[in-house]
Amino acid sequence: MSYLQKNDRKIYNLIEQEKRRQLTTIRLIPSENYVSQAVLEAVGSVLTNKYSEGYAKRRYYQGQSIIDEIEELSKSRAERLFEMPHANVQPYSGSPANLACYLALLKPGDTIMGMTLTSGGHLTHGSSVSYTGKLFKVVPYTVSKETGRLDFDEIRAIAKKEKPKLIIAGFTAYPRKVSFSSFQKIAKEVGAFLHADISHIAGLVAAGVHPSPAGLADTVVATTHKTLRGPRGALILSKKMYAKSIDKAVFPGLQGGPHNNTTAAIGVALKEASRADFRKYAEQIIKNAKTLAEGLTKKGFTLATGGTDNHLVLADVSTRDITGKEAAIALEKAGIIVNYNTIPFDERPPMDPSGIRLGSPAVTTIGMKEAEMKLIVKWISEVLNNHNRESKLRKIGKEVAAFMKNYQYY
Ligand SMILES: *Cc1c(COP(=O)(O)O)cnc(C)c1O
Repeated sequence: MSYLQKNDRKIYNLIEQEKRRQLTTIRLIPSENYVSQAVLEAVGSVLTNKYSEGYAKRRYYQGQSIIDEIEELSKSRAERLFEMPHANVQPYSGSPANLACYLALLKPGDTIMGMTLTSGGHLTHGSSVSYTGKLFKVVPYTVSKETGRLDFDEIRAIAKKEKPKLIIAGFTAYPRKVSFSSFQKIAKEVGAFLHADISHIAGLVAAGVHPSPAGLADTVVATTHKTLRGPRGALILSKKMYAKSIDKAVFPGLQGGPHNNTTAAIGVALKEASRADFRKYAEQIIKNAKTLAEGLTKKGFTLATGGTDNHLVLADVSTRDITGKEAAIALEKAGIIVNYNTIPFDERPPMDPSGIRLGSPAVTTIGMKEAEMKLIVKWISEVLNNHNRESKLRKIGKEVAAFMKNYQYY
């Protein structure tokens, strides 16, 4: 980055500082990752110079022959990897991608059914603070109070009573495998569209270590920057019959020119995700999350659903007389980065809930395995036992920084 260093030292220095932060802290936010150098290069390429409103061979600007090839390549890689007949690779991110699907299939005022925010749904699944909650009538569902898991009898009962036009199957904080076939049966019974939001688990689905919504969901949204380990962006996958309406909803319905540099970087990430070593990566993500879950359970934390079979763990820290936010702040002081999160049926507010959410995708990318997860659990437990003792947190922070010297990824 020698030009940046010369021309804008402030921004250059801040980027360098952020890079150092990413390489010296243990990053356990389940929606984050480290992209490859190849993905970074595509994101930082001259493709950012080009305007390309429209789709291949149907653009509103000249000079598209190469961009068309790039977009078609990314699109066909997405269709092949996720085994769905149509992909749109233009959505700016997961949130507009969800909205585009709703706009393609529904009219304002229609009823959508999604998981509540506090039980692990996303803002764009009809939360009252999101436009999706203002444009549509929202019927929420939640998880079972006993098990913390999806309760398909309950979901079916709500769907039968409320007759939603679209059911959303997808979560930001659900630590178990999602049965898209159970959702599909219910959607079929009540005549609703099924929309799968696999933003978090796209990499696991691509690698074949999580059930796929292909052939079951009408529309699927995947962010490209979480377990899929690509640039910030999103894909919409759909059945052939919705291809035209999805494309129209993305452009011109919701967006202008696509971010061609991102489109290319998505293509790079999709190629990486189709390789055998990515399957190994995805398997290790799950092994690592399970090791975190078992370790935290042994240390006396209560986990939502009692464990995990994907990439994330939701731990109730209130048993240590600490709130989720206090825990997240104390952990950051020791160089361990998590996010505070509500646990299902949390009695505390979302800004200071009872839980923390941890995930293994980023640490697995840089090469950590089960032994390292055990060490991380030990540090987490020490931090939460000593969250008011600054000197102790600093001491653990030094150990963490020394440990992270072994993982200079870039
Ligand atoms: C992350 C996420 C999104 C939104 O993605 P952004 O890129 O942040 O807009 C949507 N749905 C789910 C389930 C997510 O986890």
